[in-house]
Amino acid sequence: MGSGIFKSVKYVLNCIVDMVFCGMENCILCGFTCGDSLLCSQCKEQLKINYLKYPLKDKEETFKCYSLGFYSYSIKKLVLALKYEKNFYAGKVIGEYIVDFIKSDLKEDIDIMTFVPSSSEAMKKRGFNQCEVICKTVSVNADIPYKGLLKKIKTTKDQIGLSTEERWENIKDSFICINTESIKGKNILLIDDVVTTGATAFYCASTLKKFGANEVYILTVAKSRV
Ligand SMILES: [Zn+2]
Repeated sequence: MGSGIFKSVKYVLNCIVDMVFCGMENCILCGFTCGDSLLCSQCKEQLKINYLKYPLKDKEETFKCYSLGFYSYSIKKLVLALKYEKNFYAGKVIGEYIVDFIKSDLKEDIDIMTFVPSSSEAMKKRGFNQCEVICKTVSVNADIPYKGLLKKIKTTKDQIGLSTEERWENIKDSFICINTESIKGKNILLIDDVVTTGATAFYCASTLKKFGANEVYILTVAKSRV
């Protein structure tokens, strides 16, 4: 009897170990075997990381914005896998590439990192904020502290289908700062997943400046060509 239970427990444990470690041998994007890496060589090749640097601005303010690459190929697949399939390995891969960028190319002094907040409806629906997941991974591996510094206070229309002007108007005045003691006089790196018009990242950065940030830099996984 006792040994029967022991065998059953052992069987279940082995199944769990198989589930965890077999997954590690397959590419998280295409499923092909790829050894101990999370991406196979073909998906890695299709990442097209090229560290974009561009300004995000309105008439009065300009922010420096960086992206790992354009929103296409494997970068797009990684973002979608994290956001819609809760594939946190995708978040890990994205985080690693951002850490590489910070260590090799980001020359700015950063005191603290933060992320574009989700609306409470999106949090309820998805259960997590993909920008926070990325920010957390980067924080641990780049040894830069992070904190939630922004809150979305306005329910906005879905940006899809809106013109550029409508998108900017739609998102204006949507954010306020929280944990304000961590903002004043600080150089802040704001993490976002995809920049399209840039309105969301711009107004987040602008809100942080209004609450006393010294400088705000924006780092996004991808830049959409739309
Ligand atoms: Zn692959």
